[in-house]
Amino acid sequence: MSLSQIARSIKASPTLALNEKAAILREKGDPVIHLGGGEPKSRAPMDALLAAVNSINTGEVRYAPADGIPDLKKSIIRYTEEYYHRKVNPENVIASSGAKQALMVALQAILNPQDEVIFPVPYWVSYPDMIKLCGAIPVPAPAEDGTFYPRLKDIEMRLGSYTKAVIINSPNNPSGAMYSKEFIAEVVEFCEKKDLYLIMDDIYHRLVFDGKKPFSCYDFTKLSVENSKIIVINGVSKQYAMTGFRIGWAVGNKKVIEAMANIQGHQTSGPSVVLQKAAVGALNGIQSSVESLRVTLENNRNILIDLLGSFTGVKVAKPDGTFYCFADFSAYEKDSNKLSQFLIDKVMVLTVPGKEFGMDGYLRISFCGTIKDMTEGIERMKWALDPNSPNELYIGDRKLVRDWS
Ligand code: PMP
Repeated sequence: MSLSQIARSIKASPTLALNEKAAILREKGDPVIHLGGGEPKSRAPMDALLAAVNSINTGEVRYAPADGIPDLKKSIIRYTEEYYHRKVNPENVIASSGAKQALMVALQAILNPQDEVIFPVPYWVSYPDMIKLCGAIPVPAPAEDGTFYPRLKDIEMRLGSYTKAVIINSPNNPSGAMYSKEFIAEVVEFCEKKDLYLIMDDIYHRLVFDGKKPFSCYDFTKLSVENSKIIVINGVSKQYAMTGFRIGWAVGNKKVIEAMANIQGHQTSGPSVVLQKAAVGALNGIQSSVESLRVTLENNRNILIDLLGSFTGVKVAKPDGTFYCFADFSAYEKDSNKLSQFLIDKVMVLTVPGKEFGMDGYLRISFCGTIKDMTEGIERMKWALDPNSPNELYIGDRKLVRDWS
């Protein structure tokens, strides 16, 4: 069978594959603990649900404009004013089927084959493959000092004549690191000086802890949105616990947004009108669910950091935001794929191997689930990895016996 070069260069999304694996094991009745999840477990806001139901009740669910319904654009414009301090026009906004599609059409709108895109390590799993889908080349930029906080020189040193764009995701999936204002200001200035696109993946920007507040990349440029090559990506998935609604958006200059809308128009048309209405409900409705999710996540983060702190050999950096902790397990096993597989096979705990995010030896552990799952999951991991553990572990009435050293 002959597949395209692009198809052959693309891997399955490892996080989606893990979700499937967990679902299959659960269906078999195995007591799996999923610490690899990428979505809050709270309910979507009532305003979103009602808006979707009202839309369905009209009985007229039709095609929507390729770049989003006017109501949603209006809500995104208001959101941009509130969180990014910029007044934009409907032509500066596109709604897509998730932040994922917004990112994908942004990349398709700006990249030629062979172009290069730089992004800090660790990075969200999909960036390299999305870039490859455009025939372009991903250029991961690890921080020289080995931390989760890159410096401008880490990006600068990878600049070449083919560099077209930089992607910044802060707070970051998988590390939870929120980059400093100084760093973002430097990146904005650098991209302007070098005439690069700057894609800001802000999908977690309101889920930050320890009194931190989201801030706007536009605060560091004198250019208007119209003259800027910044593309801001955001959406309802994480902050409103609406991952299944698949609504995200991008804000950028008119030309780039028009190109994105043309591409999206041929790919999928606009996102479902029902789901766009739900997003309007979330964005215009009562906002207390976002703060309540944020507080829950901060509390979960504290508990997980404590649990991991008592895990000899594991090194952790406290996440500033998101619902992920990226912990260094290399003292136990340097091959994170092997380690993740071992944990699911032996103790039915699902984690995501750090290799997928560009850092082997690490595991991504989510804290968007229940405290019970986190506590029990980490206990099972400790039992599996600590050579001094007792020989047996009971999960309910199921007895596990260590047959490894
Ligand atoms: N960017 C990052 C960093 C993410 O973690 C995710 C979701 N895992 C997305 C984008 C995509 O979000 P959506 O569900 O809105 O497509």
